[in-house]
Amino acid sequence: MLSQSSECSKPRIGIIGGGVGGATIALKLSEQGANVVLFEKETSLVNGPPMCHLHAGGNLYREISDQQCIDLLKQSISTARLYRDAIDYRPTVIAVPIDDNGRTEDVIARLNILQQEYRQLIADDPCNQVLGPAAEYFTQYDRQALEALKTQPTPKVPKTPDQWMIAFAKNTDLNQLKYPVCLVQEYGISVFRLAAIASLTLEKSDNCQVLTQTQVISVNQNKQNHKWTIEASVADKNQTFEVDYLINACGFRTGTIDDMVGLQPKRMVEFKAAYISHWARHENNWPEIIFHGTRGTKNGMTQLTPYPNGYFQIHAMTPDVTLFEDGLVSSALTSAQPQLPNKFMAKVNHQWEPAIINSRTTKAIDKVATFIPSFSDATVGGPPMYGAQQIPGVDASLRVADVAFEDKTYARCEIVKASSALPAANTIIEHLIEQGILVDTDTPDTGNVMTVDLAEEEVSARAESLALARNFPKEMAALTNSL
Ligand SMILES: Cc1cc2nc3c(=O)[nH]c(=O)nc-3n(C[C@H](O)[C@H](O)[C@H](O)COP(=O)(O)OP(=O)(O)OC[C@H]3O[C@@H](n4cnc5c(N)ncnc54)[C@H](O)[C@@H]3O)c2cc1C
Repeated sequence: MLSQSSECSKPRIGIIGGGVGGATIALKLSEQGANVVLFEKETSLVNGPPMCHLHAGGNLYREISDQQCIDLLKQSISTARLYRDAIDYRPTVIAVPIDDNGRTEDVIARLNILQQEYRQLIADDPCNQVLGPAAEYFTQYDRQALEALKTQPTPKVPKTPDQWMIAFAKNTDLNQLKYPVCLVQEYGISVFRLAAIASLTLEKSDNCQVLTQTQVISVNQNKQNHKWTIEASVADKNQTFEVDYLINACGFRTGTIDDMVGLQPKRMVEFKAAYISHWARHENNWPEIIFHGTRGTKNGMTQLTPYPNGYFQIHAMTPDVTLFEDGLVSSALTSAQPQLPNKFMAKVNHQWEPAIINSRTTKAIDKVATFIPSFSDATVGGPPMYGAQQIPGVDASLRVADVAFEDKTYARCEIVKASSALPAANTIIEHLIEQGILVDTDTPDTGNVMTVDLAEEEVSARAESLALARNFPKEMAALTNSL
């Protein structure tokens, strides 16, 4: 637990951007007693690009280092502890197609490393066991085992690894895969449920002022005392706020605030989209399924994410489904903000032509059907889930980053994956203590008291209303085994 520094009687911390980064930082700072003001230009929190996969091990990204996978595992475990009711506790199948140049030996070698790390994390703190027992972190299936599972009845609510694999074994063209296929305890994370938890918690906090529909239009630092003046547009009127410490958590628009501050870090921004389908003949709960592939080619990785009642979200890392030509841009010498072409900014601002939604969703369904033939009768199930994602630096494959400091009172949240939001918050707290803005009173951090106090029904009701308000089926706010 922290106390405000006695040097500055009531220091105030301004956070610009109420995505998962800014909202999580606000949550941790206000939970620890800081005085926070959170500015979000949209009508609700965590309303930016989507998230569906917790990445507890980074097994979707074979191109990243073992160390990034280990970092994602650790960050995901703390995230699952903070946002317990946002986690969809169902496993993920990792399959390597026969015509892909990936090796199943490499998948298993990495899973062994991750399993060992997970075992150690549980030994360090038994509360880290949020992905089931370490011994069951992953299970391998050879062709014979999958053929045997095909003869079993499909359970509506699967519980064991074998039960989760039955629908996969029955419906997938097993001739198209290399063996073994792995089932790993990488879970889902619901953007609507996380938004609900963050919003409900911050609404109950006396320490955080949440200002939605409030767009920051300028920031200026007093060079003598390092404090900041923020000008924001609220209901077409401009208001001024003074803060002692500024956190830029604007997601892919982080560069716009860097430009106001006069900073020029290099970064990239990538526009991507996932598609919602409905598979009427689906009759049971599914695991998430990954068919590996080479990013950016027509055989790019395919990801099928299940929701209750036959809804499935699809990513395919091909140029005509999730990726877009010219969708990855870098910052220029004159501005820290990479400029996405207007056609993508229109999409970010919800202007999608229905014909494009239909054609991209249909291509996504066709891509899944190359592996699961019966999926070809799935239909468009809702609007796409899309957005622009920032990637700090110049390595487009980077998946783990959290926060950078440019001044004693300026922090920039630069997460690529949702699970990095909590490490970003913790690092900012350390920086605030180092700068003498907050004082560490050495009281042990009991952790996440406010989020775990929320009732599950309260989270579900808010998540459902957020999904409906954003024009998604209510099932997208529910957990796989809950309906
Ligand atoms: C298609 C797609 C799928 C993804 N899937 C996953 C996944 O499965 N798992 C995962 O972990 N991650 C996933 N991601 C990445 C994840 O969405 C991002 O990591 C995350 O949204 C970044 O959060 P953020 O808070 O940094 O930014 P954002 O969520 O973009 O939040 C920034 C906020 O700042 C606000 N803002 C900007 N400028 C201003 C201003 N001037 N004044 C006030 N407010 C402002 C914006 O309105 C926005 O709400 C995916 C991304 C995409 C594009």
